[in-house]
Amino acid sequence: MKLAEIMYSMALNKCARCHQGDVFKSKNPYDLTRMFDMHETCSHCGLKYQKEPSFFYGAMYVSYALTSGWFIVWFVLQNYVLNWDLLNFAIFMVATIIALSPLSLRWSRLIWLNFFYKYDKKYSKKINANQLSYDR
Ligand SMILES: [Zn+2]
Repeated sequence: MKLAEIMYSMALNKCARCHQGDVFKSKNPYDLTRMFDMHETCSHCGLKYQKEPSFFYGAMYVSYALTSGWFIVWFVLQNYVLNWDLLNFAIFMVATIIALSPLSLRWSRLIWLNFFYKYDKKYSKKINANQLSYDR
């Protein structure tokens, strides 16, 4: 299932096509000095992650959707469960958005990558890079 494949790639920082190679150099999204550092190609299947200049600008739309989803969840919780006063709620919401921003950045880029490449089992096996060079 496509959603399960995207979730797997997102959660484990794995290549969208083979689910073997890492996309980001650091496993920890909160490693703030290296949070933008990505591998250029997949170490397993050779997929070039940035298929054109500024490719990951599109991930900003995904990040916007993720953040909007987070706001909606908090809005529903506030209205039906929490009922905090508005100032406390706003402070807590902004703090959680800031705290989750490294994770949001990583997930948005991985989701964006999954929009363009789908998981293919033939790439997950250990392969000779020359065999699939035409697919890059
Ligand atoms: Zn790969």
